[in-house]
Amino acid sequence: MSNSHNPQCQEELEKFMSGLRKRNPGESEFCQAVHEVAESVMPFILENPIYKKERILERLTEPDRVIIFRVAWEDDDGNIRVNRAWRVQFNNAIGPYKGGMRFHPSVNQSILKFLGFEQIFKNSLTGLPMGGAKGGSNFNPKGKSDREVMRFCQSMLVELSKYVGPDQDVPAGDIGVGAREVGFMFAQYKRMQKDFKGGVFTGKGLSYGGSLIRKEATGYGAVYFCEEMLKQTNQHISNHTAVVSGSGNVAIYTVEKLIELGAKVLTMSDSSGYIHDPDGIDWEKLEYIKQLKEIKRGRISEYTQVYPKAQFFEDKKPWEVPCDLAFPSATQNELDGDDAKLLIKNGLIALAEGANMPVTPDGVAEFLAAKILYGPGKAANAGGVAVSGLEQAQNAMRLSWTREEVDTKLRQIMRSIHQKCVSEGTVDGYVNYVQGANLAGFKKVADAMLAYGII
Ligand code: GLU
Repeated sequence: MSNSHNPQCQEELEKFMSGLRKRNPGESEFCQAVHEVAESVMPFILENPIYKKERILERLTEPDRVIIFRVAWEDDDGNIRVNRAWRVQFNNAIGPYKGGMRFHPSVNQSILKFLGFEQIFKNSLTGLPMGGAKGGSNFNPKGKSDREVMRFCQSMLVELSKYVGPDQDVPAGDIGVGAREVGFMFAQYKRMQKDFKGGVFTGKGLSYGGSLIRKEATGYGAVYFCEEMLKQTNQHISNHTAVVSGSGNVAIYTVEKLIELGAKVLTMSDSSGYIHDPDGIDWEKLEYIKQLKEIKRGRISEYTQVYPKAQFFEDKKPWEVPCDLAFPSATQNELDGDDAKLLIKNGLIALAEGANMPVTPDGVAEFLAAKILYGPGKAANAGGVAVSGLEQAQNAMRLSWTREEVDTKLRQIMRSIHQKCVSEGTVDGYVNYVQGANLAGFKKVADAMLAYGII
């Protein structure tokens, strides 16, 4: 079998990437995400010329459409504010568009295209019929009142509602978008429609069609995935130390599942720095963090006022803390080559990405060279969108499954994603999960595209 290092593969990859860069000037995150997938699938494409002849990769890297629009809203002081919003509908070959909305001042088209592109493969891996999309706005929810967030969401939905629907495009949360924002967006959609179409959003509140375990799903799923990787080498989560970055929805429920499975969680972080608790974050401390982050919307540094044995490291990342397991769960490119080297030197066994593309290409190369168990986001954090798919299924059936039912299905899905990575990514006994996830995710979508002819 040819591999991505052989000269023909390298040449094809370079040719393809130089065209892609030309077509998408200045979109570095998007080009980074495409490069990783293209590198993984190029050998397969060259061995199976139909994919090259039909230009599947070229078509798959051009979004079906990108919708860009203005969102004008009024703040609490009566000032007029203007933001930009997007919906990137990337590919609906295997199901309606599906993917979250991100509200963060850093949001731009490149970031949303990278996220929408990754979503295609992630959603495909779940085995559920979901296409890939992403959306969001450069709106910064930090420091805004509930009413301001509401007015922004309502204004945004007046436009977005033209492009979404339960069988068309189903948004959900991401950074800066949780139950509060989904509630406001869904409500505005609902009041603009004649019918109650619960399946238009996922991540809804439990009283109006949300699914149990959706909130926990990304974090729990990342830990289930890590557990599967460890099992592969006869190891377990229990008694291992873990370093987690972030303190949003993904990080909080990653920590919850890690505590439940007997790991010692040493860190959490936010954009101002990280806290290191040498005794480990326990149930009580996690409850405090949930209150702090989910209700008070405070800073992680406040943790050290309540638990003085912990230390706060301003403007630092937690990768300098020695650990067995790492869960980057904050944002893209938060862990680089030097961080990876340090983690490896300090004895890292496994890493599962809770965030999307949190490790830079240099970092990925370090982990793969050191043969670390490295679970990329498309596989490791697919639990969130998987339970979104289950929420859509429950909405369509007009019933609600129990916690146990949803959790069992989530576990099964994470196990099956792991299995797909093992079958497509094992070379000489080492599972390259990047290769496995990209190839398995790609094949299903590519085959659907082949079946459709030239569209
Ligand atoms: N934003 C999440 C992700 O990156 C979830 C998307 C969804 O539930 O649609 O996969």
